[in-house]
Amino acid sequence: MLEDLNRRLASVQRLNSPADAVYGVSPRARGRRDNGVPGNAFACPVCGGVYRRFLPFGLNGRRNARCPGCGSLERHRFMWMHLRDRHRLMQRRLRLLHIAPEQCIHDILSEIPGLRYVSADMFDPAADRAADMTALPFGDASFDFAICSHVLEHIEDDRTAMGELFRVLVPGGRAVVMVPIEMDRPETYEDASIDTAAGRDAAFGHPYHVRICGADYPDRLRDAGFEVELAYSRTMTPHMRRLWRINKTVLFDCRKP
Ligand SMILES: [Zn+2]
Repeated sequence: MLEDLNRRLASVQRLNSPADAVYGVSPRARGRRDNGVPGNAFACPVCGGVYRRFLPFGLNGRRNARCPGCGSLERHRFMWMHLRDRHRLMQRRLRLLHIAPEQCIHDILSEIPGLRYVSADMFDPAADRAADMTALPFGDASFDFAICSHVLEHIEDDRTAMGELFRVLVPGGRAVVMVPIEMDRPETYEDASIDTAAGRDAAFGHPYHVRICGADYPDRLRDAGFEVELAYSRTMTPHMRRLWRINKTVLFDCRKP
């Protein structure tokens, strides 16, 4: 996914989009120094590295965004901590489907002995399976757990994709889903008539996004049958978020009843 993002940067730059509009994240670097790591340093929960600084990322070179060790971005670190601490993936025996696998998350998940890990992507030849998320090549109830981050905003028929996610999970199965979202926007904005990269960039802030997700977006996952809880990074203390460089974001913790 990161490689994919990097490939997209060139076209995004041609369109001259501000990074904040593209990535929906603004730079922030306040807060107290953490007492668990020496000096004024950052720690990466994904690879375990401790660094003086993280690398810039995004069109405006968002400071201290990307881990120099594993390449994780803010949202990857938040998601990983949620997977590790809320779902204890390190300790469980699960069949796990990772859609559009981020390299840093792939690397850590594929090393967990108890996980039967399968990655799927429409474009990435390194993924285990080539897969269109609106027609997943897996049987019903094939997986106990699924991860799908920053994918649905690229899919016009996202409701079908959510239905597929639901279908391939066992009852009681979980899906951790993230999209770029503006929680202060009550309604998701989309317009299927806008179908060019330039038009989508102007309308949705990214040449390959087909909507701007608003606060109502989790309802689509509920419509697909999921029970959905929202997990906010803001429940971490500011100095924890600063230590791990995690922005204010939210993920959807979905359960198939
Ligand atoms: Zn790292």
